[in-house]
Amino acid sequence: MTILSSPISADYRPATAAAVTVLSDAGVPVHLPGTEAYTALTGTSNLTKAIRPVAVVPVRDPEDVSRTVRVAASAGLRVAVQSTGHGATETMQDAILVSTAALDELTVHADEHWARIGAGVRWAAVLEACAPYGLAGLAGSSPDVGVVGYLTGGGLGPVARTHGLASDTVRAFEVVTGDGVARRVTATNHPELFWGLRGGKGTLGIVTAVEIDLIEQAELYAGALWFAGADASAVVRTWSRWCDVLPEAGTTSIAVMRLPDLDVFPEPLRGTTSVAVRFAWTGDPAVGEEMIRAIRSVAPPLIDTVQVMPYAALGDVHSDPIDPMPLHEHHSLLDAFPLEAADRLLELVGPDAQTAQAMVEVRQLGGKVLDDGGVPSAFPYRDAAFSLFTIGVMVPEIAQVVTRDTARVHDGFAQWARDGGLPNFTGSAGPLWAQRVFTPPVARRLQTLSMVYDPDAVLLAARGVRS
Ligand SMILES: Cc1cc2nc3c(=O)[nH]c(=O)nc-3n(C[C@H](O)[C@H](O)[C@H](O)COP(=O)(O)OP(=O)(O)OC[C@H]3O[C@@H](n4cnc5c(N)ncnc54)[C@H](O)[C@@H]3O)c2cc1C
Repeated sequence: MTILSSPISADYRPATAAAVTVLSDAGVPVHLPGTEAYTALTGTSNLTKAIRPVAVVPVRDPEDVSRTVRVAASAGLRVAVQSTGHGATETMQDAILVSTAALDELTVHADEHWARIGAGVRWAAVLEACAPYGLAGLAGSSPDVGVVGYLTGGGLGPVARTHGLASDTVRAFEVVTGDGVARRVTATNHPELFWGLRGGKGTLGIVTAVEIDLIEQAELYAGALWFAGADASAVVRTWSRWCDVLPEAGTTSIAVMRLPDLDVFPEPLRGTTSVAVRFAWTGDPAVGEEMIRAIRSVAPPLIDTVQVMPYAALGDVHSDPIDPMPLHEHHSLLDAFPLEAADRLLELVGPDAQTAQAMVEVRQLGGKVLDDGGVPSAFPYRDAAFSLFTIGVMVPEIAQVVTRDTARVHDGFAQWARDGGLPNFTGSAGPLWAQRVFTPPVARRLQTLSMVYDPDAVLLAARGVRS
């Protein structure tokens, strides 16, 4: 049966044409460039990270993934994977893209506090499905992000200091490795893959479903305090000292924002510099209120959303925009954020600074993030104290300025910076990405596993550790 969405064009490489024909003859859906389905399935939220795979396979089950991987291997092609397009880094030329968007299975086992989640499911669906039971999954700042892409990269969310990394809650992966074999991976079944899939992102396989532990957390005392640029100095300096005393029940970040003068943003924040302190408290709300008083009393906030909220509203803590935009993102890890670093932040991107950054965010790590629960994973930089993340908007006229300014900001923190990067926050690809996010021993171990489970180096995401 042939269910190609468009005929193979004359300029198509023979290997690609052959692979596409084999797949479509086997009844596997394949979409080629120029078709509506291809366009829909290759969208990315960062418009500077456009992807151009030779074909897209919207897989329906693990069997489709296995077939795609095997056919690609015999055609000398690579295989990439994507569900939402929020984390695209590769251009994917010479690769067939496996789109997992249709793998939407989601079952909550409320009595036993775990869930089974297909690789196409976004966190929003999990939060909603768990809420009636007072249970929660460890989503990130945006519930629009895909569960699997996020937790294979560690998964550092707004309650990370209390509950740890999302990847540490995984009980089982169902995955198709680069040899085309579908495997069930747990701490005892293929423990080496279990190690590598938690933090190694897609280097070792294409995950088709995960099973994760759920936590009991019906509500949070959480939200954000937005301050005017005029109060930035007092707020940022107080925040840096406050982090020293914040217990594990609190997770926080601070962001210096320059929001454009657009209606989509609340009136007092539009077209001006503001500072947002994000806060999520997992314990008694009365104690949380005591804790945040130190920040609340620095200056009258322009907007104060910190209150008791359902856990399912977790996305309101950061209120990340998710509409597609051309962004230049960069990330560093810091060992500390003392008062001197607060002053540096103000000097580099505060209200009086000349900067092209739309957002500069510092997240406090520590707490339970440090604890792997005795089950080590490929997530290597647990001991970083803070994460620094910058976003500039790549309007063509100022693209070069944005890139230079990003380097200026990160270089400005050199004295507190340390090696490494978080897999989910480091937007490069290939060897550059692997060098950044893995220590040499982790990279070597991933390389060995990749050679065993992906003998033909079919998985595009393994490129970094294989080179
Ligand atoms: C608005 C926003 C907020 C974010 N907030 C956070 C946050 O708070 N904490 C955090 O840790 N990260 C955060 N991230 C980063 C996010 O976790 C990564 O970009 C993640 O890769 C997105 O996964 P996705 O499936 O949505 O994206 P996709 O673009 O679909 O996938 C991105 C990558 O994930 C891997 N991947 C996806 N599906 C599979 C699969 N089935 N098998 C194997 N590998 C797979 C692949 O390497 C793929 O290239 C945020 C991103 C955005 C856009």
